[in-house]
Amino acid sequence: MGKKNITGISTITLHTANHDNDNYSHTTPIYATSTFTFDSAEQGMERFKGEDKTRLYTRWGNPTFTAAEKTIEALEARGLTNESGAPLEVKALLHSSGQAAMSTLFFSNLSAGDTLISHYSLYGGSQELMQKVLHEAGVKVILIDIHDEALLLETIKANPTTQLIHLETPANPTLQCVDIEAICKIAHAHGIKVSVDNTVATPYLQQPFALGADFVFHSATKFLNGHGSALNGVLLGKDLEFMHTKVWKWHVLLGGNSNAFDAYLLIQGMKTLELRMEKHCSNAEKVAHFLQQHPAIAKVNYTGFTTHPHHTIAKKQMKQHAPLISFELKGGIEAGKKFIDAVEVCTRAVSLGTVDTLVSHPASMTHMSIPKTEREKYGITDGLIRMSVGIENIEDLEADLAQALEKSI
Ligand SMILES: *Cc1c(COP(=O)(O)O)cnc(C)c1O
Repeated sequence: MGKKNITGISTITLHTANHDNDNYSHTTPIYATSTFTFDSAEQGMERFKGEDKTRLYTRWGNPTFTAAEKTIEALEARGLTNESGAPLEVKALLHSSGQAAMSTLFFSNLSAGDTLISHYSLYGGSQELMQKVLHEAGVKVILIDIHDEALLLETIKANPTTQLIHLETPANPTLQCVDIEAICKIAHAHGIKVSVDNTVATPYLQQPFALGADFVFHSATKFLNGHGSALNGVLLGKDLEFMHTKVWKWHVLLGGNSNAFDAYLLIQGMKTLELRMEKHCSNAEKVAHFLQQHPAIAKVNYTGFTTHPHHTIAKKQMKQHAPLISFELKGGIEAGKKFIDAVEVCTRAVSLGTVDTLVSHPASMTHMSIPKTEREKYGITDGLIRMSVGIENIEDLEADLAQALEKSI
């Protein structure tokens, strides 16, 4: 993958996309154009016939998108081989957002009469896309406790129309993890494909293709971009033929293409992915331990703790523990609101994966419209605070948390 035989994450993100242009630009140019010119009718015809349709019309592809796609392909396929021992090749398609990439994933794999199996505690937009849009399109959507292997097998047997199992691991906000390898084995034994939402882990922590996944999905809006400066989504697949034909066609027809400026911001952001993730992860570990011993806190959800129900799964498939934490304040919803109001360094915002620490209060924000009894089933209690740990200096983060917790009591 890429032009050089390189395997290190930073080397990949610094060198895959650059210098590949006629004008010797050091950084990837922003190709702000809707269409591309031809020298002759003959050349136009050749480009339409070819596999590479990135110099025709931007909804079909654009060189700035290609640069981002090549980088993410190299990251996700890093060090992996295919069945014949050759380096694994995967195909990425850049989209305007995670939701757009997920729409392409679902609509190119599922049609009316088919079944999709997924699990609880998904990103809200993913669950709504399944239960509203796919449901209305005639796809049967089944959400189960996917850790229960007998239940999964029973569900597959009862639904022979199952085409896809979609996993999200680790999942927001309680960091539930799913054993990707175990689910892929069961799925493949029944001719079912598996897609994995790798947004929270990023290829720095976890490579779903190494564990058997057929598709990998990212909201590149989060850690891949890293700075909260643009939305993007990416869908990767290892069946190249399928990716270049049906998936590409559905992507183009659904119209969820990115734009050159946001693709450029993603490319720039990814250059520091490894450096950022190292710091995000080490800060998260320190913050989790700091919170754990605080008297105002009832519980900390962090996969690095042996008490987390999915600690073992997380350890098995991720290089380190993800830099996302949630914690429950003893004082419930009022304490949650007071804490959010009191932070001075942490940023009050939803989303995740930005260089600065983001805090949100699901019960009064992202999950406000979900009935209390329903959200509590997924562990979203009144006093739960979600924290995407940033790369600030740890002493400032801890001091801010200490003063805000004091005020929340
Ligand atoms: C944000 C997010 C999405 C949706 O991505 P957008 O870029 O907001 O469309 C999907 N899955 C996860 C885990 C996310 O965090």
